[in-house]
This record gives sequence, structure tokens and C-alpha cells, in this order.
Amino acid sequence: MSSHFELPETLPPVAADAEAVQRALDGLLTRRPELAGVISPFGPLFVASRRADALLKNWRPEELPRVFPDKLAQGAPWLAGDDLQWLADRGAAVAAEVLPELAGQFPVVAEECGRVLAAVNEGRLDSALLIRRLLDNDAEGLATMAAGLDVRPGLLGLAAREIALPLLRRAAGLRTAEIAAAQWSRGCCPCCGSLPSASFLSRRDERNAEFLVGGGGRKVFLCSRCEHRWNAKRVMCPVCENEDPHAIERVSVEQKPGERVYLCKKCGTYLPCLDLRETLDVAALEIEPLGLVHLDILARERGFVPAAVTPWNTMGDGE
Ligand SMILES: [Zn+2]
Ligand SMILES: [Zn+2]
Repeated sequence: MSSHFELPETLPPVAADAEAVQRALDGLLTRRPELAGVISPFGPLFVASRRADALLKNWRPEELPRVFPDKLAQGAPWLAGDDLQWLADRGAAVAAEVLPELAGQFPVVAEECGRVLAAVNEGRLDSALLIRRLLDNDAEGLATMAAGLDVRPGLLGLAAREIALPLLRRAAGLRTAEIAAAQWSRGCCPCCGSLPSASFLSRRDERNAEFLVGGGGRKVFLCSRCEHRWNAKRVMCPVCENEDPHAIERVSVEQKPGERVYLCKKCGTYLPCLDLRETLDVAALEIEPLGLVHLDILARERGFVPAAVTPWNTMGDGE
């Protein structure tokens, strides 16, 4: 079934596996050698995350919630209010794949990663509850959990994100067709309700060049916690959802016309954007936010905060 909610056909496909992500990272590093200091330590987190996918290849939880198009049309994400118990029995396996990578890349958090991993393994930390609190942005609930584990709340949030990503990506993948067919115009993810880590403008579709949509430039948001992609309005802050072009400042980088960051003057958040019409060799959208870190720096220097917390825009804050 085809609908006008479909994503632009010119978007690069989701990378197939860990090897494909590694190749995309190598390509990004070739394109942006000046960002090696970011791509080299954070890139392996993406690879470890995709290694965890292999553990979930045959995972089809029976209790995975159904998609109710009416609920989405009213603005409630698919997983809103769900207790996520269907993923609880996979948390430990995923944590064992992703947390050692986080610890290995960032020795300063290694001890705390070890405590989180031990707690998940020993059943003292319920991964369903952990991820629920993450998705709810329940800072108080996460802080309580962190205190019980003797880790910093910021670190627990990052660890939770790494554990959540493969589980939510797989779950969202099992329901993609239904979710993509539902009406959705919000700034948060229709699957998990999280905010985007980056936005993209699509390339021209030569096959449909005679149609208006073939001109490219359709905007797509990438979810920071499940990597779902969805069509977004051309001008809209994902956080406060205002669509006032005067309240959203677009800042470009000299000599890089395809790279820009949108600053929302209403809520003080920013979202990087990559124009795929002006950028060659993009193999995997998922890793591209790493290549836009200079825009994070630019926005933060102006006093703006990221729409979504990610390891690469947070670590180094002393959290
Ligand atoms: Zn999501
Ligand atoms: Zn805003």
C-alpha cells in the first residue's frame, strides 16, 4: 500500500549490519578527517550497537504492542504508556554487548558501566523500567536508580540509551510499515516518543523527476533512541513544535552549504541538519550526526542545548 506518508525513496537505506556501519564510519572519517577526535571514540558505539542486533535477529516478542493508527493520529507515539516488559528478558544480553564498548572507549566511566552491567545481570536493575524512565525523560526516577547503583545519573542515562537502542530499533523495525502508514506530524518519534538527533533534506528522485516531490528537499527526522526515520515539516522545532520561521534561526557553515543547524529561539534548543543534495558519499544516516559535531559546538557556544542528548553531544560535560 502506498501513501503520501512514505519516506523519500532517495534516502540511503538503513545499514545492513555492523560491518556496513563500520564501512560507513570509515567513509565518514575519510570525508571529515578533522573530526577524527569524535568519530574514532564514538563510532565504535554504533558498531557495538549493531553487533547487538545480531543477538535479536530472531526476536519477535509475543507481547509487542499493536499499532493503533488513531492513537498516532492523535499525537501519541506507539510505545507511549507501555510498560515495555516484553523487552525485559533481552536487556542483559544487549547490555553485555554495548556497555563494555562504552567502558572501553571511555575509561573514565568504565567502573560505573561495570556496576550497571552487574546490576542488569543479577536482576537488580529492571531494563524495562530503566528504558521506560529514559523514554519518559524521568530525571528523578533515573536519579533514584542511579543512586541505588552508585553511578552518576548522566552516566546511567547514557548506558540506558545504549541498552535501549538495539531493542527499540528491532521493535520499531517489526512495526515500521504500520507506523509509517499512520498520520504523524509531531517533532518526537512516532515509535518511541524521543526527539531527533539530526534532520536530513532528501535528494532529488530522478525516477520521479516530473513530480513535485521529485525535486528533493523533503525533511526527515532521525530518532535519537530507536533510529526510526519519519517525515517532518520543513520548518518546525522538534522540541516545542513551533513552526514560526522567525523563531527558528538557520546557521550554515562557511564552505559547507549542505550542513546547517537550526536554533529555536522559543525553547533554546538546536537540531543539526544535513542536506543530502549537497553531500556525497553518505552511506548510513544513523552515523551522520557524528559528522555534524562542529554544528553542536557552534550552537552550544551561542547558548543553545541539543534537542536530544546523545553520547557525543554530552560526554565531556563532566556529567
Ligand atoms: Zn524513536
Ligand atoms: Zn523550540
